[in-house]
Amino acid sequence: MSKVRVRFAPSPTGGLHLGGVRTVLYNYLFAKKQGGDFVVRIEDTDQTRFVEGAEQYIFNCLTWCGMEPDESPVTGGPYAPYRQSERKELYRQYAEQLIRDGFAYYAFDTPEELEKMRNDFKTAENPSPQYDGKVRMQMKNSLTLPADDVKKLLDQNTRHVVRIKMTANETISFTDIIHHEVSFDSSLVDDKVLLKADGMPTYHLAVVVDDYLMKITHAFRGEEWLSSAPVHVLLWKYLFGLEHMPQWAHLPLIMGPSGKLSKRDGATYGFPVFAMNWIDPKSNELTEGFKEKGFLPEAFINLLAVLGWNDGSEQEMYSMDELIAHFSLDRVHAAGAKFDYEKAKWFNHEWIKKLPVTNYQQRVKEIFESKNVTVTDDKYFAKVLVLVKERCTLLTDFYDQAIFFFVQPANYDEASVKPKWDNEKQDFFTALITGYNAISDWNLISIETEFKNLATEKNIKLGELQMILRVMLVGSKMGPGVFVIEETIGKTETVNRIEKALTIFSLF
Ligand code: GLU
Repeated sequence: MSKVRVRFAPSPTGGLHLGGVRTVLYNYLFAKKQGGDFVVRIEDTDQTRFVEGAEQYIFNCLTWCGMEPDESPVTGGPYAPYRQSERKELYRQYAEQLIRDGFAYYAFDTPEELEKMRNDFKTAENPSPQYDGKVRMQMKNSLTLPADDVKKLLDQNTRHVVRIKMTANETISFTDIIHHEVSFDSSLVDDKVLLKADGMPTYHLAVVVDDYLMKITHAFRGEEWLSSAPVHVLLWKYLFGLEHMPQWAHLPLIMGPSGKLSKRDGATYGFPVFAMNWIDPKSNELTEGFKEKGFLPEAFINLLAVLGWNDGSEQEMYSMDELIAHFSLDRVHAAGAKFDYEKAKWFNHEWIKKLPVTNYQQRVKEIFESKNVTVTDDKYFAKVLVLVKERCTLLTDFYDQAIFFFVQPANYDEASVKPKWDNEKQDFFTALITGYNAISDWNLISIETEFKNLATEKNIKLGELQMILRVMLVGSKMGPGVFVIEETIGKTETVNRIEKALTIFSLF
């Protein structure tokens, strides 16, 4: 058997949707499991859809997700170039081969003539007629014009396209790994353009030619391409023989709260849809990504993998290596999988807990720095992250959960303290400052013993005192154990904070 070769073939037209990343992931897992090659080919033949920066963005997303291609326009490889616009010249010969063999034809119709055709053939049942077997013999193409005229038009460089001549009443079937036997009635498919007037191939021709030339063995893509499959199958048959055709898998759609998950759902429901932040270069509109929202790549990959796939066990958490070991396409459900943001966050929370903080410390540091908090001591920072990681669902949560380890509270939850504040508490905290100042070995045991002894001596309930102490240190009632906080921020800082809060609370 020939070596497994899969490809991810994005058109660089904008942000990378999570469905797109799942397509990459399933390709990648399959290839790595089989010891095969993962190829990235940029399908940029539609110049009208070219978007500045979109290709680089795709590679940045792949790097973030940890799915580096074996061959791509960036890494190169034996089948270079991997950008279709750079392969432009090689497609024409295949279009001409199809014409010679009677499977395609030149079409010279002008936009006005096409418009007229759509008007003339419009009926109630068929409101938008296509260029197909029913109309082609009434159009201006190499099937209807005498050969001499065709030659003349071509010699004069008359604008033209090449169209596939779809067969009539043929059942086109193929086996899809996920959908099994799939059949199409060829009469329902139009004569798709294969080569455009600008000499560029369309996606249909380029995808087939390149999958052939790049020796792709398996082609996995989104289900939205299923309706194009009959054209591709015919092109395979006409150009290269079906035995060279890759095995197809059309991956089910990812569903949002209302139908197919869309970028708009993200804005409506407040969750990311793209892998990373995407800024539309024309409108400057920013669409937030999973990365910037505070997701770990481990969690993002994990949640995408199980969106429509399971290995038959109860396991939910998988590292990339485990996925490579467990993944199989025959366990991908054919029905669309519903994206659940709450579940997505659950995965992130679990991965935050599971991974050592060193794994994401740098990213959290950047979040702090973006809020003008300078982290000078990386060891201290790591220690703090360990203390609060259980409480964080997104990496961005670390800021709120840990900021008080770096700066004194600006405000206090006075509503909680006021009803409990009295002279006894005032005395207690005044005495506590003296007690703390006298501690020479500042550690969990010495701090806690001092605090509890003083409470017993003054006969005050521990719970109320601890709540007040927490508000003094943190500003609110959140955070890990109060004594742990005191130990971490150190004696001087602890005493400072109690003193500062005391001046405010004593006015109650
Ligand atoms: N260029 C197509 C896209 O943008 C690729 C479809 C395929 O994988 O065949 O999704």
